[in-house]
Amino acid sequence: MELTFKAVDNIPLIQKGDDLADLIFKEADLYDNDIVVIASTIVSKSLGLTFYLSDIVPGKEAKRIARLNQKEPEFVQAVLDESLEVFVETPFMLVRNKNRHICINAGIDGSNVGGGRLLKLPNNPDGCATAIGEKLEKLTGKKISVIITDTNGRAFKEGQTNVAIGLYKIKALRTWIGEKDLFGYVLEISEEAVVDEIAGAANLIMGEGANGYPVVIVRGLDLYTPEKTSIMEFYRKKEDDVIVKGLLEIKKQ
Ligand code: GDP
Ligand code: MN
Ligand code: MN
Ligand code: MN
Repeated sequence: MELTFKAVDNIPLIQKGDDLADLIFKEADLYDNDIVVIASTIVSKSLGLTFYLSDIVPGKEAKRIARLNQKEPEFVQAVLDESLEVFVETPFMLVRNKNRHICINAGIDGSNVGGGRLLKLPNNPDGCATAIGEKLEKLTGKKISVIITDTNGRAFKEGQTNVAIGLYKIKALRTWIGEKDLFGYVLEISEEAVVDEIAGAANLIMGEGANGYPVVIVRGLDLYTPEKTSIMEFYRKKEDDVIVKGLLEIKKQ
C-alpha cells in the first residue's frame, strides 16, 4: 500500500474574495478519490474574517476574564463573541465555538495573518468544504473529498496537531466494528478518527510558520463517499461527554 501527501505549490497570500477552488484547480492535478486538505487560515482569509482588536468593545464579562488571564479585554471579548459556551475561563479560555468545535480561544489566531490583524474560524466549515469540493468536482469531473483543518492543542499532552473542522464527502470516522482482528476476534468498539489522522499528517507539510503550504493533496486512500458528510458526526452529545460534564461541574464550584 502506498499513500502520498503532496503540497500544492504557488498558492498566493490569500485575500478576501479569492476563489480557493479556482486557485487549487490551476495548480493541482487532481484524480478520483483525492483528498484536498486545506488550512482553515486561508478559508477564513478568503471569507474576510480578519479583524483588529481596536475595533472590539469589551463588556464587563470580558474585562473580568481579561484580568484573571492578563489578556487584553478586547481579545477576550472577541473570543466570547465566537463562543457558544465557555468551559474553562482561566488560566486560558477553553470554549465551544459557534461551529461546535471545542478549542482554546475559539480558534482566534494571529499567525500567518499580517498587518496586526487577527483571524476568526469560519462559522460553517462543513459549508466551506462543500462549496470548495463541489466546485473542484465540477471543474475536474473527478470524485474529490475536502478536509478543512486547524491546529489545536490537546488534552493531557503537550504539543499541538492539526485536526479536521470541516468535511466534504469523507466520513469523520472509519468503523472497524464487526471486522476481525488477526486472530479472528470480532472488534466491538474500534472507530478510527481518520480525518484527524489525515489532518495531522498533512501538517507535516503545512507546518505552522512561513512554509506557505496551506493545501495538501492526499492520494492512495479509499475514503470517498458520495453522501453528504459532516464534522458534526464527530462531536459527542453533551450528556455523553464525561470531560465536558466534568469541566462544567468544576466551573459551578
Ligand atoms: P492554521 O493551522 O489553519 O491556523 O494555519 P497556519 O497558520 O498554521 O498555516 C498553515 C500553512 O498555511 C502554513 O504553511 C502557512 O505558511 C500557510 N499559509 C497561511 N496563510 C497562507 C496564505 O495566505 N498563502 C499561502 N501560500 N500560505 C499560507
Ligand atoms: Mn495560523
Ligand atoms: Mn489556526
Ligand atoms: Mn497550523
